[in-house]
Amino acid sequence: MGQGLSCGSGDEHGLFSAVQCGDVETLKAVLEKNPSLIHHSTVYDRQSALHIAAANGQIEVVTMLLNQSVNPDLLNRYKQTPLMLAAMHGKISCVQKLIEAGANILKFDSLNGRTCLHYAAYYGHSECLKAILSSARTSHVAASWGYARFVNVRDGKGATPLHLAARQRRPECVHILLDNGALVCASTGGYGFPGSTPLHLAARGGSLDCIRELLAWGADRLHRDASGRIPYTVALRYHHGACAALLNPSSAEPLVWPSPLKFISQLNEEAKALLERALMEANKEREKNILKGTDYSSPSPTPSDSGMDDNISEVSDTEVCCICFDQICTIEVQDCGHQMCAHCVLALCCHNKPKPTTTSPPEPVCPFCRSNIVQLHVIKVTKDDDIDRDISSKLRKSRRSRNFSEGSSSFKGLSAVSSFGKMTGRGSGRIAAENEWIDKPLSVD
Ligand SMILES: [Zn+2]
Ligand SMILES: [Zn+2]
Repeated sequence: MGQGLSCGSGDEHGLFSAVQCGDVETLKAVLEKNPSLIHHSTVYDRQSALHIAAANGQIEVVTMLLNQSVNPDLLNRYKQTPLMLAAMHGKISCVQKLIEAGANILKFDSLNGRTCLHYAAYYGHSECLKAILSSARTSHVAASWGYARFVNVRDGKGATPLHLAARQRRPECVHILLDNGALVCASTGGYGFPGSTPLHLAARGGSLDCIRELLAWGADRLHRDASGRIPYTVALRYHHGACAALLNPSSAEPLVWPSPLKFISQLNEEAKALLERALMEANKEREKNILKGTDYSSPSPTPSDSGMDDNISEVSDTEVCCICFDQICTIEVQDCGHQMCAHCVLALCCHNKPKPTTTSPPEPVCPFCRSNIVQLHVIKVTKDDDIDRDISSKLRKSRRSRNFSEGSSSFKGLSAVSSFGKMTGRGSGRIAAENEWIDKPLSVD
C-alpha cells in the first residue's frame, strides 16, 4: 500500500521505523527528544505514526499514541483513517483499540469512497468485520444513520460491503453481512458492471461458497444487470463452469433460509447454527446432483466431518425423527414439545420460490399437533449421565408413541414425503415480507 517511508530528518526516520516494527523503547526515546514528531507524517502518502502502527498491527504503539491523545481519525493522502488500514490488513486488536478510542466507523476514503466496513469485507477479515458491525450496533451510527443503512453503506461506485465480499470470494464475510441485514438483492447501479447484484459479482469472482450463501439468502438468479445479463451468463463468460451450473435458472432451486419467520429470527445461537448447517448440507446435496455428470463435481467432505453424524453413532435408533425416519431428532418445538430433525424443521419453514404477491403468509405449525410454533430448541443429549439419558429417551419414546396414535392428517402427509426437499414448495409465499423490506429504498447514497 506504499507506506512511503521517505523521510525528512534522521529523527523522523527513526520514529517511523520504530513505529513500524513496534519498538516502543526507541519510540519513547525519539519522542522524548522531540515531542512534536508525534504529529509528523510521511512525505508522500502522509501516513501518520498511528496509520503505520495500525497497518502493521503494532498494538502497543497504537495504544501508546492514543494514550497521548493522538486523534484516532487522522487522514492520510487518500483520506484513509488508521481504522481503515487496520481493517485492510486484518489487525483485529488495533481495530478494537481504535474503536474503543472513539474512531469514526463512518468515514469515507477518497480513493473509492469506501468505509472501514468495505475494507474489512473486501480483504476478507471476518473478525474485523464483526468488530466494526458490533460497534455500529451500539454507537451513535445506529442512532443517526440506522444500523441496516450502515450494513448496506455504498462506496463511490454503489457497491455495498456485500458486493465487495462476494466479488473477492469471501464467503465468511458474505455470511456475516447477510446475517446482519445486508440486502442480498442490492444493485450497484455503477460498480464495475452497472446494476450488478452481489450474485452477479460472486459469479464473476467464481466462488461456489459465496454463491451458495447468497442463494440460501434468497438471491434471485433471474436478476438482470445493466447489460441485461443474469448471473449465469456472467459465470459462463468468466469460465466458472461449476458456478454457472448452480446459477443456471433451469437447475434445482436451493433451500432459502426462512428469515422472515418470527421464531427463526428469535432462534438461540445453538439452534441457529444447527439449522444453518442442515440448510447448507441440504443445498450441498442438491449441488452434487446438479454437478453430477458435469466436469465440475468435486470431492465432497466425508460425512464424519460434520458433528451431526457423530451423534448418530451415539444415540439409539429410538430417537430417529418420525417424519423422515432418516435423521435423528435434534430440535424440539415449543410449546408443544414435539421433536423432529433439523432437516424436517427446514422443510416445514423453507420455501424456494418467493412469491412477492402473497402478502400475509401463514406461519408454519407443528406437523404433529398443528399448534403454533413459538420457539425451537436444540435437544440436549446428556452423554455422561446414563440414567438421565435413559429417562429422557423413555420420555421421548412415550411422546412419540403418542404422536403415532394421534396420527393427525398433517403427520401422515409429512411422513409420506420421502425426501424433505419435495416439501419445500409449501408456504412458499412467506418470503414476501422480506421482499417488501428489500424493495424499500434505503437512500444510502
Ligand atoms: Zn426428519
Ligand atoms: Zn406439536
